[in-house]
Amino acid sequence: MNEQTTIKKSVRREKMATIPDKILTWQMVQPTSRDRETGEVTPGKIEKTEVPVPELGPGEVLVEVAGCGVCHTDLGYFYDGVPTVSKPPLTLGHEIAGTVVAGDEAWIGKEVIIPAVMPCRQCILCKTGRGNRCLNQKMPGNSLGLYGGFSSHIPVPSIDLCEVKDRGEFPLSHLAVVADAGTTPYQAAKRADLQPGDNVVVIGITGGVGQYVGQITKALGAKTVVGIARNQEKLDRSLKYGADFVINSTDKDARAISKEFRGLCKENGLPTFGWKIFEVTGVKPGQEIGLALLGFVGKLIVVGYGLAKTEYAIGRLMAFDAEVIGTWGCLPEYYPIVMDMVLNKKIDIGPFVETRPMSSIVETFEEVHKAGSPAKRIVLTPDF
Ligand SMILES: [Zn+2]
Ligand SMILES: [Zn+2]
Repeated sequence: MNEQTTIKKSVRREKMATIPDKILTWQMVQPTSRDRETGEVTPGKIEKTEVPVPELGPGEVLVEVAGCGVCHTDLGYFYDGVPTVSKPPLTLGHEIAGTVVAGDEAWIGKEVIIPAVMPCRQCILCKTGRGNRCLNQKMPGNSLGLYGGFSSHIPVPSIDLCEVKDRGEFPLSHLAVVADAGTTPYQAAKRADLQPGDNVVVIGITGGVGQYVGQITKALGAKTVVGIARNQEKLDRSLKYGADFVINSTDKDARAISKEFRGLCKENGLPTFGWKIFEVTGVKPGQEIGLALLGFVGKLIVVGYGLAKTEYAIGRLMAFDAEVIGTWGCLPEYYPIVMDMVLNKKIDIGPFVETRPMSSIVETFEEVHKAGSPAKRIVLTPDF
């Protein structure tokens, strides 16, 4: 046995020693509910508890959580009646970075990102490149039994893990944003068939996901990125992170925005056709802007989720030879590419992430829920 193997083994043993008897976790005991008849609201409950460490099967590992991002989807489950696949009590959280501490030998001691959605790899969707929308997919904090990221540890399959190598000065917890906020835009760009030289609009470029859509489309070679949102301060910031032009949509309807956009195109010698428009807000005004801007051979890519019904004369799609498409999650295969873009600073995560102790989860959820769109993605780090 050479020296290196000895060191490796002892590191492993040390890591083995950190396997806990219990997983500490902040469980959603019950989501917020509203009585259909009386309209009475029963507040949701998140409580600290412990669950046993499960027996790990072949190809499974236990990850010690370094950080888990608070996503709009978590708030949807907790506040807005969006049902989780696994019934409560369960732990929310699907934007996770951590270190493997048990299970599959090959992974022990490695730092990893856990993809937010893990495809089954067996079904026809998985086998035809659409695994990001696999119907049997597993998502921590939703369909991975009672396990989620707002915990000390989480058991997950190892096949989908993205290894973090040479992260330099990046804190591992910050890299949690790659698991969802950073990768969803990459998948959206792929879905849009984004090519170098394309012209792009990002509606909601000031949001947690939207700003990455701006950065990633630019990094992938977009010629022009036009950002649309309401917060001027954040719009100005987006000019440093991908956007070439911004339009403030405060107190303007879709028609007014469309007029302003056409003016901008004319002034800057840009075409009015062929734009790839990413709608990230998920709300009706954003969708209306997207549809109003959609022109000849254009594409509207729906990245934001919402329940609004928005009217459109769909015959225009025929006349325009245009497309409206949706996009969901991100294939695990793309994670190393996005990780590389982050570590090589092709996209910048630093100014857009903030860590807080996980014990602040209840207040943090309240705050983010009230604020709607916080200035930075909040990543909770286990303190218990
Ligand atoms: Zn999410
Ligand atoms: Zn599948």
